[in-house]
Amino acid sequence: MAWDFETDPEFQKQLDWVEDFTRNEIEPLDHVLESPYDVKSPGFIKLVRPLQQQVRDRGLWACHLGPDLGGQGYGQVKLALMNEIIGSARFGPVVFGAQAPDSGNAEILAHFGTAAQKERYLAPLLDNEIVSCFSLTEPQGGADPLMISTRAVRKGEEWVIDGEKWFSTNARFAEFFIVMAVTDPDAEQPHKRASMFIVPAESPGIEIVRNVGYGATMPTHAYVRFTDVAVPLDHMLGERGQGFVVAQTRLGGGRIHHAMRTIAKARRAFDQMCERVISRSTKNELLANKQMVQEKIADSWVELEQFRLLVLRTAWLIDKYQDYRKVRRDIAAVKAAMPKLLHDIASRALHLHGSIGLSDEMPFMHWVTESYFLALADGPTEVHKVTVARQVLRDYTATSDLFPSYHLPRLRAEAVARYGQDPEILEAAL
Ligand SMILES: Cc1cc2nc3c(=O)[nH]c(=O)nc-3n(C[C@H](O)[C@H](O)[C@H](O)COP(=O)(O)OP(=O)(O)OC[C@H]3O[C@@H](n4cnc5c(N)ncnc54)[C@H](O)[C@@H]3O)c2cc1C
Repeated sequence: MAWDFETDPEFQKQLDWVEDFTRNEIEPLDHVLESPYDVKSPGFIKLVRPLQQQVRDRGLWACHLGPDLGGQGYGQVKLALMNEIIGSARFGPVVFGAQAPDSGNAEILAHFGTAAQKERYLAPLLDNEIVSCFSLTEPQGGADPLMISTRAVRKGEEWVIDGEKWFSTNARFAEFFIVMAVTDPDAEQPHKRASMFIVPAESPGIEIVRNVGYGATMPTHAYVRFTDVAVPLDHMLGERGQGFVVAQTRLGGGRIHHAMRTIAKARRAFDQMCERVISRSTKNELLANKQMVQEKIADSWVELEQFRLLVLRTAWLIDKYQDYRKVRRDIAAVKAAMPKLLHDIASRALHLHGSIGLSDEMPFMHWVTESYFLALADGPTEVHKVTVARQVLRDYTATSDLFPSYHLPRLRAEAVARYGQDPEILEAAL
């Protein structure tokens, strides 16, 4: 029997340290620093760099990576257990060297990059000396990447890129962009029409039209225009026409890492809701004694535990198969369930706190808004539900009979044909 829900004691010690460090050292940063991606700002250098050093000394830096890239090669289950703590703090991922979108960009550079690309872009990215940006979505089409129209045309020894990108997160801080552009509009298979490029941020012709924000967050999702932006031929990432393959590799890991961190936020909202209901009274009794309040606590606890188990099992499957394609159904299920979890628990926490819950003195409104971000970034929920359904239905076989294979009269007839020779059994069945 290999089922086990316990963490081994050695790793638990690391997790205890991560918990204490996140609560006491990282969470306060969320209140005094603005962006975890502004790595050149004096506040970041003064407050974040020493914490990153402590994480390195502890051997916990960039744990999503294998040892060849400076990580621990812990695998996804251990990573999940860490991320469900670190994710509670806005600065958590960057202090541990595992922040999106850099983690995903590092993954594709490691996977598809040439030696020269790795040296110039991957090494400083892994050290968080620089940050990066991923530019796929366009103003006219996000959920359907086949609608992208940004073009890259080969001119001599360069690729020249023209087009617009939308919601390119952290473009304002990025040292380089990874841009998906159409290189082969006439390719027979639509998924072979686009390629991926590494574009240095200082390239002439890149214009941030404006930085867009949501809720009370810093506007950091850029509307970017590329006008005759030239990059050398060796700045293509992966093969020509492989843009979709590169993008897919990036997204598999990214989605599950977001889910692990979402557990942390939902748990924080849950803990706060629990503290509130055992502390506040109305009509001569605690909120916690009212059944409709108890229902909210119970529903939240069940949903959180269900989601956590789904995430951990998916992480375990990724470790087992070492191939995201074999875990597509599970990752899509996690991605589809994640926004609802944060939305529902944060909304209940908000509601149970009353007016202060809705106010900007509490984090709930931000988390509710963030749940919509989780439902959009890396693809809308609907698309992931379709993936789950398609993958699930592959395991079923259609019947060509007029009635279903499990039609009760048919099952009974089959059973009678099998056992009905025995008069005693037949009599009992009648
Ligand atoms: C906070 C945040 C950060 C982001 N960061 C990046 C980034 O760094 N780089 C980047 O390239 N992009 C980024 N995105 C963009 C993100 O990938 C897109 O928002 C997403 O793909 C949806 O595209 P859209 O916004 O154009 O919505 P649309 O494509 O217009 O979709 C709108 C709605 O239509 C419905 N819909 C769409 N498709 C289907 C379907 N197949 N079936 C049923 N219903 C459907 C859904 O309800 C969906 O929410 C980010 C988005 C957010 C919110």
